[in-house]
Amino acid sequence: KPRVIPLSQHGVRRDQLSTAALKVTSRLQEAGFSAFVVGGAVRDLLLDVSPKDFDVATNATPEQVHHLFRRSRIIGRRFRIVHVMVGPETIEVTTFRGGGIDDQNESGRIMADNTFGSQEEDAHRRDFTVNALFFDPSDESIIDYHHGVKDLKAKKLVMIGQPARRYQEDPVRMLRAVRLAAKLGFEIDEDTRKPIRAHAHLLKKEPPARLFDEMLKLLMSGHAYACLKKLREEGLSRGVFPLLDAVMGEDGDDLFLQLGLQSTDARIRADKPVSVGFLLATLLWQQVNQHWQQHIAAGEKPLQALQMAIADVENEQDNDFAIPRRFSVTMREIWTLQGRFDSRSGARPYRFLEQPRFRAAFDFMSLRAEAGELPASLVEWWEAFQRGDQAEREALINEAK
Ligand code: ATP
Ligand code: MG
Repeated sequence: KPRVIPLSQHGVRRDQLSTAALKVTSRLQEAGFSAFVVGGAVRDLLLDVSPKDFDVATNATPEQVHHLFRRSRIIGRRFRIVHVMVGPETIEVTTFRGGGIDDQNESGRIMADNTFGSQEEDAHRRDFTVNALFFDPSDESIIDYHHGVKDLKAKKLVMIGQPARRYQEDPVRMLRAVRLAAKLGFEIDEDTRKPIRAHAHLLKKEPPARLFDEMLKLLMSGHAYACLKKLREEGLSRGVFPLLDAVMGEDGDDLFLQLGLQSTDARIRADKPVSVGFLLATLLWQQVNQHWQQHIAAGEKPLQALQMAIADVENEQDNDFAIPRRFSVTMREIWTLQGRFDSRSGARPYRFLEQPRFRAAFDFMSLRAEAGELPASLVEWWEAFQRGDQAEREALINEAK
Protein backbone atom coordinates (compact mmCIF):
# COMPACT_ATOMS: atom_id res chain seq x y z
CA LYS A 1 0.00 0.00 0.00
CA PRO A 2 2.66 2.58 0.80
CA ARG A 3 4.91 3.93 -1.90
CA VAL A 4 8.44 2.59 -1.59
CA ILE A 5 10.69 5.18 -3.16
CA PRO A 6 14.18 4.02 -4.15
CA LEU A 7 17.39 5.98 -3.66
CA SER A 8 17.57 6.86 -7.34
CA GLN A 9 14.37 8.87 -6.97
CA HIS A 10 14.95 10.65 -3.66
CA GLY A 11 18.73 10.89 -3.28
CA VAL A 12 18.99 10.47 0.50
CA ARG A 13 21.94 8.21 1.28
CA ARG A 14 22.75 6.11 4.32
CA ASP A 15 26.02 8.00 4.84
CA GLN A 16 24.05 11.20 5.48
CA LEU A 17 22.83 9.75 8.76
CA SER A 18 24.75 10.29 11.94
CA THR A 19 26.94 7.45 13.20
CA ALA A 20 24.55 6.90 16.06
CA ALA A 21 21.44 6.73 13.88
CA LEU A 22 23.14 4.22 11.62
CA LYS A 23 24.33 2.12 14.53
CA VAL A 24 20.95 2.04 16.25
CA THR A 25 18.97 1.10 13.13
CA SER A 26 21.42 -1.57 12.02
CA ARG A 27 21.63 -3.20 15.46
CA LEU A 28 17.83 -3.34 15.67
CA GLN A 29 17.60 -4.81 12.18
CA GLU A 30 20.31 -7.40 12.90
CA ALA A 31 18.24 -8.47 15.90
CA GLY A 32 15.33 -9.13 13.55
CA PHE A 33 13.28 -5.98 14.15
CA SER A 34 12.33 -3.37 11.64
CA ALA A 35 13.87 0.04 12.22
CA PHE A 36 13.63 3.31 10.33
CA VAL A 37 14.81 6.87 10.64
CA VAL A 38 11.61 8.83 10.79
CA GLY A 39 10.04 12.27 11.06
CA GLY A 40 11.87 15.59 10.89
CA ALA A 41 15.26 14.06 10.02
CA VAL A 42 14.02 12.41 6.81
CA ARG A 43 12.18 15.58 5.86
CA ASP A 44 15.27 17.71 6.44
CA LEU A 45 17.57 15.36 4.51
CA LEU A 46 15.22 15.49 1.54
CA LEU A 47 15.42 19.28 1.73
CA ASP A 48 19.21 19.25 2.03
CA VAL A 49 19.02 20.68 5.53
CA SER A 50 21.14 19.02 8.18
CA PRO A 51 18.84 17.44 10.79
CA LYS A 52 18.93 18.66 14.40
CA ASP A 53 18.55 15.12 15.66
CA PHE A 54 17.58 11.67 14.48
CA ASP A 55 14.53 9.77 15.62
CA VAL A 56 14.13 6.06 15.04
CA ALA A 57 10.87 4.13 14.83
CA THR A 58 10.77 0.37 15.33
CA ASN A 59 8.47 -2.56 16.00
CA ALA A 60 10.60 -3.58 18.99
CA THR A 61 9.05 -2.78 22.36
CA PRO A 62 10.80 -0.31 24.68
CA GLU A 63 12.06 -3.23 26.79
CA GLN A 64 13.45 -5.01 23.75
CA VAL A 65 15.21 -1.83 22.63
CA HIS A 66 16.61 -1.20 26.09
CA HIS A 67 17.87 -4.79 26.18
CA LEU A 68 19.85 -4.34 22.95
CA PHE A 69 21.70 -1.19 24.03
CA ARG A 70 23.75 -1.02 27.17
CA ARG A 71 23.74 2.77 27.20
CA SER A 72 20.01 3.34 27.00
CA ARG A 73 17.12 4.18 29.24
CA ILE A 74 13.37 4.05 29.03
CA ILE A 75 11.74 7.41 29.67
CA GLY A 76 8.26 8.84 29.80
CA ARG A 77 5.21 7.49 31.47
CA ARG A 78 2.44 8.22 29.01
CA PHE A 79 4.23 7.00 25.94
CA ARG A 80 7.44 5.32 26.79
CA ILE A 81 10.36 5.95 24.50
CA VAL A 82 13.97 4.83 24.73
CA HIS A 83 16.94 7.13 24.70
CA VAL A 84 19.94 5.35 23.25
CA MET A 85 23.29 7.01 23.83
CA VAL A 86 26.03 6.44 21.25
CA GLY A 87 29.13 8.55 21.76
CA PRO A 88 27.98 12.13 22.32
CA GLU A 89 24.66 11.53 20.55
CA THR A 90 21.27 10.52 21.90
CA ILE A 91 18.84 8.80 19.58
CA GLU A 92 15.17 8.72 20.46
CA VAL A 93 13.73 5.31 19.67
CA THR A 94 9.96 5.02 19.54
CA THR A 95 7.93 1.87 19.14
CA PHE A 96 5.33 2.15 16.36
CA ARG A 97 2.23 3.68 17.90
CA GLY A 98 -1.34 3.16 17.00
CA GLY A 99 -4.14 4.88 18.73
CA GLY A 100 -6.20 7.38 16.88
CA ILE A 101 -9.79 8.22 17.25
CA ASP A 102 -10.64 5.31 19.55
CA ASP A 103 -8.60 6.81 22.32
CA GLN A 104 -10.20 10.22 22.34
CA ASN A 105 -12.41 11.60 25.06
CA GLU A 106 -15.64 13.42 24.25
CA SER A 107 -13.84 16.65 23.35
CA GLY A 108 -11.69 14.80 20.85
CA ARG A 109 -8.50 15.19 22.88
CA ILE A 110 -6.20 12.16 22.81
CA MET A 111 -6.24 10.44 26.20
CA ALA A 112 -4.09 7.40 25.83
CA ASP A 113 -1.52 7.59 23.10
CA ASN A 114 0.39 4.64 24.38
CA THR A 115 -0.90 1.69 22.43
CA PHE A 116 1.53 -0.02 20.12
CA GLY A 117 0.58 -0.24 16.47
CA SER A 118 1.76 -1.12 13.01
CA GLN A 119 4.09 0.96 10.90
CA GLU A 120 1.11 2.13 8.90
CA GLU A 121 -0.71 3.25 12.03
CA ASP A 122 2.43 4.98 13.20
CA ALA A 123 2.53 6.96 9.96
CA HIS A 124 -1.12 7.82 10.39
CA ARG A 125 -0.81 9.30 13.88
CA ARG A 126 1.89 11.76 12.82
CA ASP A 127 1.00 15.35 12.07
CA PHE A 128 2.03 16.38 8.54
CA THR A 129 2.60 14.23 5.47
CA VAL A 130 6.21 15.43 5.20
CA ASN A 131 6.77 14.31 8.80
CA ALA A 132 5.52 10.78 8.21
CA LEU A 133 8.31 9.45 5.99
CA PHE A 134 10.38 6.41 6.96
CA PHE A 135 13.93 5.95 5.71
CA ASP A 136 15.28 2.40 5.68
CA PRO A 137 19.09 2.60 5.92
CA SER A 138 19.55 -1.02 4.82
CA ASP A 139 18.34 -0.39 1.26
CA GLU A 140 18.16 3.41 1.33
CA SER A 141 14.49 3.44 0.42
CA ILE A 142 11.84 5.85 1.70
CA ILE A 143 8.47 4.49 2.72
CA ASP A 144 5.72 6.98 2.10
CA TYR A 145 2.14 6.29 3.23
CA HIS A 146 0.73 9.80 2.74
CA HIS A 147 2.23 11.42 -0.37
CA GLY A 148 4.80 13.10 1.83
CA VAL A 149 7.48 13.26 -0.88
CA LYS A 150 5.06 14.82 -3.34
CA ASP A 151 3.99 17.45 -0.81
CA LEU A 152 7.59 18.12 0.11
CA LYS A 153 8.46 18.79 -3.52
CA ALA A 154 5.48 21.14 -3.75
CA LYS A 155 6.62 22.81 -0.49
CA LYS A 156 3.26 22.20 1.10
CA LEU A 157 2.47 21.37 4.71
CA VAL A 158 -0.50 19.02 4.60
CA MET A 159 -2.15 17.59 7.70
CA ILE A 160 -2.73 13.85 7.67
CA GLY A 161 -6.43 13.03 8.04
CA GLN A 162 -9.06 15.67 8.80
CA PRO A 163 -7.29 18.84 9.91
CA ALA A 164 -10.05 20.11 12.22
CA ARG A 165 -10.17 16.81 14.01
CA ARG A 166 -6.41 16.61 14.32
CA TYR A 167 -6.36 20.09 15.92
CA GLN A 168 -9.02 18.96 18.37
CA GLU A 169 -6.93 15.92 19.24
CA ASP A 170 -3.90 18.09 19.84
CA PRO A 171 -4.11 21.88 19.52
CA VAL A 172 -0.33 22.28 19.63
CA ARG A 173 -0.33 21.03 16.03
CA MET A 174 -1.50 24.53 15.05
CA LEU A 175 1.66 26.03 16.49
CA ARG A 176 3.72 23.30 14.83
CA ALA A 177 2.13 24.12 11.48
CA VAL A 178 3.16 27.74 11.78
CA ARG A 179 6.65 26.98 13.03
CA LEU A 180 7.42 24.36 10.40
CA ALA A 181 6.00 26.45 7.56
CA ALA A 182 8.16 29.41 8.60
CA LYS A 183 11.22 27.25 9.17
CA LEU A 184 10.96 25.28 5.92
CA GLY A 185 9.63 28.09 3.77
CA PHE A 186 6.50 26.03 3.00
CA GLU A 187 2.90 27.03 2.42
CA ILE A 188 0.35 25.62 4.82
CA ASP A 189 -2.06 23.78 2.53
CA GLU A 190 -5.41 25.57 2.40
CA ASP A 191 -7.45 22.75 3.99
CA THR A 192 -4.87 22.49 6.75
CA ARG A 193 -4.74 26.24 7.30
CA LYS A 194 -8.42 27.09 7.18
CA PRO A 195 -9.59 25.49 10.46
CA ILE A 196 -6.80 27.07 12.51
CA ARG A 197 -8.55 30.34 13.30
CA ALA A 198 -11.68 28.61 14.57
CA HIS A 199 -9.68 26.23 16.77
CA ALA A 200 -7.19 28.73 18.16
CA HIS A 201 -9.06 28.98 21.47
CA LEU A 202 -8.30 25.31 22.20
CA LEU A 203 -4.71 26.24 22.91
CA LYS A 204 -5.81 27.98 26.09
CA LYS A 205 -6.55 24.62 27.64
CA GLU A 206 -3.09 23.24 27.00
CA PRO A 207 -0.73 22.93 29.96
CA PRO A 208 1.28 26.18 30.14
CA ALA A 209 4.53 24.25 30.34
CA ARG A 210 3.87 22.53 27.02
CA LEU A 211 2.89 25.83 25.41
CA PHE A 212 6.01 27.45 26.72
CA ASP A 213 8.16 24.64 25.29
CA GLU A 214 6.50 25.03 21.92
CA MET A 215 6.89 28.82 22.03
CA LEU A 216 10.53 28.37 22.81
CA LYS A 217 11.01 26.06 19.82
CA LEU A 218 9.33 28.69 17.74
CA LEU A 219 11.50 31.50 19.07
CA MET A 220 14.68 29.45 18.73
CA SER A 221 13.90 28.15 15.25
CA GLY A 222 16.10 30.72 13.52
CA HIS A 223 12.89 32.10 12.02
CA ALA A 224 11.29 33.70 15.04
CA TYR A 225 10.34 36.87 13.27
CA ALA A 226 8.63 35.01 10.41
CA CYS A 227 6.90 32.72 12.91
CA LEU A 228 5.44 35.57 14.94
CA LYS A 229 4.18 37.28 11.81
CA LYS A 230 2.54 34.07 10.71
CA LEU A 231 0.99 33.46 14.11
CA ARG A 232 -0.63 36.85 13.81
CA GLU A 233 -1.86 36.13 10.28
CA GLU A 234 -3.44 32.86 11.36
CA GLY A 235 -5.19 34.36 14.37
CA LEU A 236 -3.04 32.51 16.89
CA SER A 237 -1.48 35.50 18.53
CA ARG A 238 -4.15 36.55 21.03
CA GLY A 239 -5.67 34.82 24.00
CA VAL A 240 -3.33 31.87 23.67
CA PHE A 241 -0.30 32.58 25.72
CA PRO A 242 0.22 35.67 27.84
CA LEU A 243 3.63 36.24 26.38
CA LEU A 244 2.23 36.43 22.89
CA ASP A 245 -0.61 38.72 23.86
CA ALA A 246 1.91 41.25 25.02
CA VAL A 247 4.09 40.93 21.95
CA MET A 248 1.32 41.01 19.42
CA GLY A 249 0.02 44.43 20.27
CA GLU A 250 -2.59 46.07 18.08
CA ASP A 251 0.04 48.50 16.90
CA GLY A 252 1.53 45.82 14.69
CA ASP A 253 5.24 45.74 14.07
CA ASP A 254 7.55 47.56 16.32
CA LEU A 255 11.09 48.23 15.28
CA PHE A 256 12.67 47.16 18.56
CA LEU A 257 11.04 43.73 18.47
CA GLN A 258 11.86 43.29 14.83
CA LEU A 259 15.53 44.16 15.33
CA GLY A 260 15.76 41.96 18.41
CA LEU A 261 14.22 38.92 16.79
CA GLN A 262 16.18 39.33 13.60
CA SER A 263 19.44 39.50 15.49
CA THR A 264 18.46 36.35 17.42
CA ASP A 265 17.54 34.61 14.18
CA ALA A 266 20.88 35.56 12.67
CA ARG A 267 22.76 34.23 15.70
CA ILE A 268 20.91 30.93 15.61
CA ARG A 269 21.47 30.47 11.92
CA ALA A 270 25.17 31.15 12.48
CA ASP A 271 25.22 28.54 15.26
CA LYS A 272 26.01 31.12 17.92
CA PRO A 273 24.59 30.75 21.41
CA VAL A 274 21.41 32.62 22.31
CA SER A 275 20.21 33.50 25.79
CA VAL A 276 16.55 32.69 26.33
CA GLY A 277 16.35 35.25 29.11
CA PHE A 278 17.59 37.93 26.72
CA LEU A 279 15.09 36.87 24.09
CA LEU A 280 12.20 37.03 26.54
CA ALA A 281 13.40 40.40 27.77
CA THR A 282 13.25 41.58 24.15
CA LEU A 283 9.77 40.24 23.60
CA LEU A 284 8.27 42.03 26.56
CA TRP A 285 10.33 45.20 26.57
CA GLN A 286 7.73 47.40 24.89
CA GLN A 287 5.38 46.63 27.76
CA VAL A 288 7.96 47.37 30.41
CA ASN A 289 9.05 50.54 28.71
CA GLN A 290 5.50 51.86 28.42
CA HIS A 291 4.84 51.32 32.10
CA TRP A 292 8.21 52.81 32.95
CA GLN A 293 7.45 56.03 31.09
CA GLN A 294 4.01 56.21 32.69
CA HIS A 295 5.41 55.90 36.21
CA ILE A 296 8.02 58.55 35.43
CA ALA A 297 5.33 60.84 34.07
CA ALA A 298 3.43 60.27 37.32
CA GLY A 299 6.41 61.62 39.23
CA GLU A 300 8.38 58.53 40.24
CA LYS A 301 12.18 58.55 40.16
CA PRO A 302 13.49 56.60 37.13
CA LEU A 303 14.95 53.61 38.99
CA GLN A 304 11.92 53.27 41.21
CA ALA A 305 9.63 53.67 38.20
CA LEU A 306 11.49 50.90 36.37
CA GLN A 307 11.03 48.50 39.29
CA MET A 308 7.32 49.30 39.35
CA ALA A 309 7.05 48.76 35.60
CA ILE A 310 8.75 45.37 35.83
CA ALA A 311 6.38 44.34 38.59
CA ASP A 312 3.38 45.48 36.52
CA VAL A 313 4.42 43.42 33.53
CA GLU A 314 5.24 40.36 35.58
CA ASN A 315 1.84 40.48 37.19
CA GLU A 316 0.15 40.80 33.83
CA GLN A 317 2.15 37.85 32.58
CA ASP A 318 1.16 35.71 35.52
CA ASN A 319 4.84 35.06 35.32
CA ASP A 320 5.47 32.20 37.70
CA PHE A 321 2.98 30.23 35.73
CA ALA A 322 4.18 30.77 32.21
CA ILE A 323 7.88 31.58 32.20
CA PRO A 324 10.14 29.19 34.10
CA ARG A 325 12.22 30.85 36.78
CA ARG A 326 15.56 29.96 35.20
CA PHE A 327 14.66 32.31 32.36
CA SER A 328 12.69 34.97 34.17
CA VAL A 329 15.58 35.78 36.51
CA THR A 330 17.84 36.80 33.62
CA MET A 331 15.02 38.62 31.90
CA ARG A 332 14.36 40.70 35.02
CA GLU A 333 18.06 41.46 35.54
CA ILE A 334 18.47 42.73 31.99
CA TRP A 335 15.50 45.04 32.47
CA THR A 336 16.59 46.26 35.88
CA LEU A 337 20.05 47.12 34.60
CA GLN A 338 18.59 49.37 31.89
CA GLY A 339 18.18 51.94 34.63
CA ARG A 340 21.92 52.19 35.19
CA PHE A 341 23.24 53.43 31.86
CA ASP A 342 22.34 57.00 32.70
CA SER A 343 24.56 57.13 35.79
CA ARG A 344 27.90 58.01 34.37
CA SER A 345 29.56 59.75 37.29
CA GLY A 346 31.92 58.75 40.09
CA ALA A 347 32.44 55.05 40.75
CA ARG A 348 29.13 53.92 39.31
CA PRO A 349 30.24 53.12 35.76
CA TYR A 350 33.13 51.08 37.19
CA ARG A 351 30.84 49.09 39.44
CA PHE A 352 28.40 48.54 36.60
CA LEU A 353 31.14 47.05 34.39
CA GLU A 354 31.83 44.45 37.06
CA GLN A 355 28.22 43.30 37.08
CA PRO A 356 28.12 39.77 35.63
CA ARG A 357 25.18 40.74 33.42
CA PHE A 358 26.72 43.96 32.18
CA ARG A 359 27.39 42.59 28.71
CA ALA A 360 23.84 41.34 28.21
CA ALA A 361 22.42 44.61 29.54
CA PHE A 362 24.71 46.56 27.23
CA ASP A 363 23.71 44.53 24.15
CA PHE A 364 20.10 45.12 25.10
CA MET A 365 20.68 48.85 25.46
CA SER A 366 22.39 48.92 22.05
CA LEU A 367 19.28 47.37 20.57
CA ARG A 368 17.15 50.08 22.16
CA ALA A 369 19.42 52.71 20.64
CA GLU A 370 19.26 51.05 17.25
CA ALA A 371 15.48 51.19 17.45
CA GLY A 372 15.70 54.92 18.12
CA GLU A 373 14.76 54.74 21.76
CA LEU A 374 18.07 56.13 23.00
CA PRO A 375 20.73 58.34 21.42
CA ALA A 376 23.54 56.45 19.69
CA SER A 377 25.98 58.58 21.68
CA LEU A 378 25.08 56.64 24.83
CA VAL A 379 26.15 53.37 23.18
CA GLU A 380 29.34 55.00 21.94
CA TRP A 381 30.14 56.30 25.42
CA TRP A 382 29.75 52.89 27.03
CA GLU A 383 31.69 51.23 24.24
CA ALA A 384 34.56 53.64 24.76
CA PHE A 385 34.35 53.20 28.51
CA GLN A 386 34.61 49.41 28.22
CA ARG A 387 37.62 49.62 25.91
CA GLY A 388 39.36 52.51 27.63
CA ASP A 389 42.34 52.49 29.99
CA GLN A 390 42.24 54.27 33.33
CA ALA A 391 42.99 57.75 31.94
CA GLU A 392 40.52 57.42 29.10
CA ARG A 393 37.82 56.31 31.49
CA GLU A 394 38.40 59.30 33.76
CA ALA A 395 38.17 61.56 30.73
CA LEU A 396 34.89 59.96 29.68
CA ILE A 397 33.42 60.42 33.14
CA ASN A 398 34.41 64.09 33.13
CA GLU A 399 32.99 64.54 29.66
CA ALA A 400 29.65 63.04 30.72
CA LYS A 401 29.19 65.49 33.57
P1 ATP B 1 12.09 19.72 14.35
O1 ATP B 1 12.87 20.01 13.13
O2 ATP B 1 11.66 20.93 15.05
O3 ATP B 1 12.70 18.70 15.27
P2 ATP B 1 10.20 17.62 13.94
O4 ATP B 1 9.15 17.44 12.90
O5 ATP B 1 11.32 16.65 13.96
O6 ATP B 1 10.72 19.09 13.77
P3 ATP B 1 9.71 16.79 16.63
O7 ATP B 1 9.04 17.54 17.73
O8 ATP B 1 11.14 16.45 16.76
O9 ATP B 1 9.48 17.66 15.33
O10 ATP B 1 8.83 15.50 16.37
C1 ATP B 1 9.31 14.38 15.64
C2 ATP B 1 8.17 13.76 14.84
O11 ATP B 1 7.12 13.33 15.70
C3 ATP B 1 7.51 14.70 13.85
O12 ATP B 1 8.19 14.77 12.63
C4 ATP B 1 6.13 14.09 13.71
O13 ATP B 1 6.16 12.98 12.84
C5 ATP B 1 5.85 13.57 15.11
N1 ATP B 1 5.13 14.55 15.95
C6 ATP B 1 5.66 15.47 16.78
N2 ATP B 1 4.72 16.18 17.41
C7 ATP B 1 3.53 15.72 16.97
C8 ATP B 1 2.17 16.03 17.24
N3 ATP B 1 1.85 17.01 18.09
N4 ATP B 1 1.21 15.32 16.60
C9 ATP B 1 1.55 14.33 15.74
N5 ATP B 1 2.79 13.99 15.44
C10 ATP B 1 3.79 14.66 16.03
MG1 MG C 1 12.93 16.49 15.47
